Amino acid sequence: MDNKTIRMVTKLVQGAMDDNQVQVTKEFKAEDGYAVPVGVSARHVHLSNEDLEALFGEEYKLTKKKELMGGQYAAEECVAIVGLKHKAIENVRILGPVRKQSQVEISATDSIKLGIKAPIRESGDIKGSTPIALIGPKGIVCLKEGCIIAKRHIHMSPKDAEEAQVKHGDDVSVKIVSERGTIFNHVTIRVDDSYTLEMHIDTDEANAVNIVTGDFVIIIK
Ligand SMILES: [Zn+2]
Repeated sequence: MDNKTIRMVTKLVQGAMDDNQVQVTKEFKAEDGYAVPVGVSARHVHLSNEDLEALFGEEYKLTKKKELMGGQYAAEECVAIVGLKHKAIENVRILGPVRKQSQVEISATDSIKLGIKAPIRESGDIKGSTPIALIGPKGIVCLKEGCIIAKRHIHMSPKDAEEAQVKHGDDVSVKIVSERGTIFNHVTIRVDDSYTLEMHIDTDEANAVNIVTGDFVIIIK
């Protein structure tokens, strides 16, 4: 199919969708539990300075595209990631600033696509995690470990934690109110002064329960 046809069909679909917007209102009462907005994390890469230079060239510095919480940011730069199936996933966003160790966070669907079996881990806990290769414009890096599926978690400030009556490291359950509503167990609480209240889940988890960034969920413990 040529591009012109695809563009035309996309327009038709967009028109039909605009006519068809389903308005789902989610209203919570205080007694339901503590409400938390959702942030859906797409697959992304954190790089060490050494790996950044290997992929983009010596003395290379990332360009900030969008500020995130805790001093982190989405960079303009992307890399391709490659597993064992001779298949790459391209345009994987880099999050800055550089870290001590490189880390690749993917969804379970991505791991199938890549032919690897990544463990579910908290960010930063990459010991013994899955090997993966990164391709940048200036080079290739093979990570011996570092590919994970991020464990779902909620960021909050100490004040939020007090209000929600939880503490750093707690394992809570979260109720999802949507057309495909469910309960997510094993959500880790992460408390820090630099955090704004947000539950981070990956694209698989969000799609499975039909929620998007900005929707609210409820901590039910
Ligand atoms: Zn997070």
